[in-house]
Amino acid sequence: METIFTKIANGQIPSTKLYEDEKCFVIMDINPVKKGHSLVIAREPYPNMASCPDDVLTHMLLVAKKVEAKQREVLGNQGSNIIINNDPASGQEVPHIHIHVIPRFVNDGRKHFQDHDKYSDGEMQALGMKLSLN
Ligand code: AMP
Repeated sequence: METIFTKIANGQIPSTKLYEDEKCFVIMDINPVKKGHSLVIAREPYPNMASCPDDVLTHMLLVAKKVEAKQREVLGNQGSNIIINNDPASGQEVPHIHIHVIPRFVNDGRKHFQDHDKYSDGEMQALGMKLSLN
């Protein structure tokens, strides 16, 4: 399956590449939430988290950690958002798993989640019992 990211990986579409290895590569996001916003992208076009092998997913997170550290060193950001949009319902636009690494600064005016749900009395605990992994 071909995606915009496979086209970037094979050079059909230009990108600013920061890193690559056999499991993933890193490019700068063309439409950054904050300048320096980068994407850690699986080399294979797994569409979502469930389809991505555990070794690839864990490797991508470790690469994201390095990208984040480099951003702090170069940009001086005090925080970051590390995000996977997982399937179209979440807002994922490119069906090829990637981790967003977004540098964040104190009072930078960005807010990731604008709206929040509210639980009624006891609702959170009841749902927690259904969602429990133990
Ligand atoms: P998502 O909504 O999680 O699928 O995010 C896709 C991201 O890919 C968006 O932040 C886009 O700005 C970014 N993007 C799309 N096309 C390109 C491109 N050609 N080069 C760099 N980033 C891109």
